[in-house]
Amino acid sequence: EFAAKDFQAAVVRQKGGPFVIETASITPPRHDEVLVRVVATGMCHTDMVARDQIYPVPQPIVLGHEGAGIVEAVGENVTKVEKGDHVVLSFHSCGACRPCQEGHPAYCENFNDYNFAGARPDDGSHALCGHDGTPLNDRFFGQSSFGAYAIANMRNVVKVRKDAPLELLGPLGCGIQTGAGTVLNALKVEPGSSFAAFGAGAVGLSAVMAAAATGATTIFAIDVVPSRLDLARELGATHIVDSSKDDPVAAIRKITGKGVDFAMDSTGIPAVIRNAVLALRPMGSAAIVGASKPGALLDLDANDLMQNVKSIRGVVEGDSVPDVFIPKLIDLYLAGRFPFDKLVRFYSLDQINEAAADSEKGGTLKPVIRIG
Ligand code: NAD
Ligand code: ZN
Repeated sequence: EFAAKDFQAAVVRQKGGPFVIETASITPPRHDEVLVRVVATGMCHTDMVARDQIYPVPQPIVLGHEGAGIVEAVGENVTKVEKGDHVVLSFHSCGACRPCQEGHPAYCENFNDYNFAGARPDDGSHALCGHDGTPLNDRFFGQSSFGAYAIANMRNVVKVRKDAPLELLGPLGCGIQTGAGTVLNALKVEPGSSFAAFGAGAVGLSAVMAAAATGATTIFAIDVVPSRLDLARELGATHIVDSSKDDPVAAIRKITGKGVDFAMDSTGIPAVIRNAVLALRPMGSAAIVGASKPGALLDLDANDLMQNVKSIRGVVEGDSVPDVFIPKLIDLYLAGRFPFDKLVRFYSLDQINEAAADSEKGGTLKPVIRIG
């Protein structure tokens, strides 16, 4: 029995891709699941990292983890949403481990099983089936939304306002919530404070927008791509530094005197993370968000940390509770204070490989694949 048959989905069958558009079918939602007709899905680095087997997900697999769509059917235990609701799909979590119970689902102890196993964590089953009748690996971030239908769990569907442009909202489920949440939930950047974003990609620029929205008055964006720095200025950065030309720590000290209150690294480059910590004022805090190469080590001055009472921490998914945070970001967007649409470029499903290439070449900050 299928809930939807013969729709298009992008399947990755080998390391490195490509995404291949194939015909797929999907089972009805289980008791705690939600069938979603996908309208559009954002693309982020983690899709590429899974495609290329840097994160070893089983193949063939349907990726896609920034889905937005309309609820088509719900399982019998689902009361959170109903048919016709507009939803954004975010990361999945178990809800039972200590970090989940403490209100940090992004730090779920079972995050890998719930988001990267390619199957349901309880019995290893799949919702998607290929044109030849064999199951496809799925459940990527509890959704696998590079297809016209996706099954999510009730824990990772977020109901959103119907007056918001649904096709734009998918990226709030991962990359944008990561940058904005690091600023608002984890670092808790304050009005009148100073903040530096090392890296001005989709995550860094989302952090810049959030810092501006929350009233930080001195906001640095540091990158090596001039067009990204120009956009950073448009989105609220008060100062930009091209670190291929200028020393960002010296530039930040020149403006602030003692350094910034808060910094975030989204480059994953150890030498850049080191600069983010050096650029802090005494008692400042830095967040590491970028994914570094496996085994990467940091070279930090221990006495600078101790004597200047600096903090440094990792942050995943902006430490967000998606049901709470994503609607806030949508309200900010609709109030004109979080213009994340400026990062987005739309592609059709059959342009999905072009979208990936444009993003990897740096021409597109946030591709969104229109599906429905
Ligand atoms: P991106 O590639 O668009 O952004 C990285 C930016 O860093 C680019 O603009 C690049 O030009 C810049 N950069 C490169 N070298 C630099 C240097 N030496 N100095 C300054 N800037 C430099 O990627 P993104 O989508 O913004 O994602 C950023 C990172 O965050 C990725 O590693 C991604 O995997 C990771 N990520 C982490 C989480 C999390 O939960 N922690 C979630 C989503 C993404
Ligand atoms: Zn958990």
